[in-house]
Amino acid sequence: MTVLELDDIDTYYGNSHVLHGVSLDLDEGEVVALLGRNGAGKTTTMRSIMGVTPPRRGTITYRGEDVAGLPPNEINARGISLVPEDRRVFPTLTVHENLVLAHKLAADPRPVEEMYDLFPVLDELRRSRAQNMSGGEQQMLAVARALVQRPSTLLLDEPTEGLAPVIVDDLREMLQDVVDQDVTVLLSEQNVSFAFDLATRCYVIDTGSIVYEGSIEELQERDDLLERYLAVSPEEVA
Ligand code: ATP
Repeated sequence: MTVLELDDIDTYYGNSHVLHGVSLDLDEGEVVALLGRNGAGKTTTMRSIMGVTPPRRGTITYRGEDVAGLPPNEINARGISLVPEDRRVFPTLTVHENLVLAHKLAADPRPVEEMYDLFPVLDELRRSRAQNMSGGEQQMLAVARALVQRPSTLLLDEPTEGLAPVIVDDLREMLQDVVDQDVTVLLSEQNVSFAFDLATRCYVIDTGSIVYEGSIEELQERDDLLERYLAVSPEEVA
């Protein structure tokens, strides 16, 4: 069953026309990757879904209802949570305080303790202030904070951005546990091999247009697309 469908959306920043007729859909429980280079339009797609930068044209349907134009808090209340690229955890609060705050603000939250079961690293860091943690740990906190809200759809915007390779490996393992849970995920990434490990289907976006839609296996065979739109050599994702 389709839970989220973008149909032919156009999004602008002022006069700057950034998304050109983007269409994509997510089925219940799927992990779908949105791949593309720097500036391709991944974040703008996420912001469009979330209502932060609503599309000027086209529709966004979530569980059968048109949500384009609704305010972000309303879209969030319907079950979509965004983990933004810059993470936005509260730096001076501890891990536990960040999670308790998210828990308090949610209508139907999951117990904070469940987050510690899912992310044992955070359990060890309960009393650490977010600002003193590594980028990878902050990313896990940002994901945990979103999951406390019991979202049915999670938008993960470039979770590996700025992380060292060894941390990316840890994050991959943690996210594997997350995606095994009952949640639909749209994962935006420039790190193609990371996305390939987690997703089953993908879209490739370039200068605000979707240029490929299909299975990960098919894309892995498409050396032309990998080189042209994702600037990776086929060996890197074999
Ligand atoms: P990145 O990895 O850099 O986040 P991205 O694929 O997420 O890449 P977007 O952030 O969606 O790309 O940017 C798409 C285009 O929109 C780029 O050309 C970018 O310069 C432009 N853009 C992004 N934010 C703004 C803004 N606030 N005002 C004007 N233009 C913007």
